Amino acid sequence: MNRFNGKRQSANPFLLYLCATWKVAVSMSLLTATSAWSQPVPGSLDADWNEGASDCKATPQAPLQIHAYEPQTFILRQSPCADFEANFLYLLIGSDKALLIDTGAVADPKEMPLAKTILELLPDKDQKKLPLLVAHTHRHMDHRAGDPQFASLPSVQIVPIDFDGVRAFYGFTDWPNGIAHLDLGGRTVDVIPTPGHNQTHVAFYDNRTGILFSGDFLMPGRLLIDDAAAYRESALRVVDFLKTRPLSYILGGHIELNAAGHAYRFGSHYHPDEHRLELTREDLAALPAAFENFNGFYARHPNYILTNPIRNLVALAIIAVAALIFIVWGVRRLLRCRRRR
Ligand SMILES: [Zn+2]
Ligand SMILES: [Zn+2]
Repeated sequence: MNRFNGKRQSANPFLLYLCATWKVAVSMSLLTATSAWSQPVPGSLDADWNEGASDCKATPQAPLQIHAYEPQTFILRQSPCADFEANFLYLLIGSDKALLIDTGAVADPKEMPLAKTILELLPDKDQKKLPLLVAHTHRHMDHRAGDPQFASLPSVQIVPIDFDGVRAFYGFTDWPNGIAHLDLGGRTVDVIPTPGHNQTHVAFYDNRTGILFSGDFLMPGRLLIDDAAAYRESALRVVDFLKTRPLSYILGGHIELNAAGHAYRFGSHYHPDEHRLELTREDLAALPAAFENFNGFYARHPNYILTNPIRNLVALAIIAVAALIFIVWGVRRLLRCRRRR
């Protein structure tokens, strides 16, 4: 995991500027098992997340729920009524800069005043708002639809969403190996490549709280597999990365299961009795084996579901064609029998 190459990959001067500005660095050191890590700052996950409604028009909802995990870490949840994806976004505040992880599924600031809300949460420094870096766990639209709200704001930088741009911004030269670091001032966030759900996927490990922000890589929901081999290797790399580090919680991008582990209907705006948001080291530790035993289509585990949507669609299409052939064959046979009679 810790094979590093000190050279930056991109020749794009703008991206190099961004990297330099944000002091992104790929670690050059091997971390030993005896490394001492400071105790994570404790926080609270005691929140009743908005469960949406079966009739959103009849029961208007606040579009965004804000929960302070601790004074410098905010969890924002988009209402399931604003968009069925109901994304979780995370704001991490350092002494020099702040980091927003994902911008959610809703673009329109009238429907989802995300940038306004984030600016209100940002503290001042030198009579100005703290500079903000907007990053994404991956490029799926439900994790970046809010980007345009930040595009013209001063002191805000947005990490590119394309594969080359992501690697260049963080300085990964041997993707998916290596760890990048974001220095927020008194708070470092490690960026870990986690492709498999999507080619551009990264997870963020916050050294202050000991939380892994895992996006769609690991969450109480459907882990949609794009590349199973890459996904499994990502799981192994994250397990290895966290072996020597404290881990408070794993917080993902969505909750798609109820407390009993059953998935809500895809597209549902109503999430009664939701599964808890946080997953644990045990859930992560079980992920590589879950891939080893995966049947390639669908597998339920206590706190997540592995599924390959493309393969399932192909299988469904094959079953539908087979059923059609069988029906046509049956009808022809029936007609033949009638004619004989
Ligand atoms: Zn996704
Ligand atoms: Zn997502």
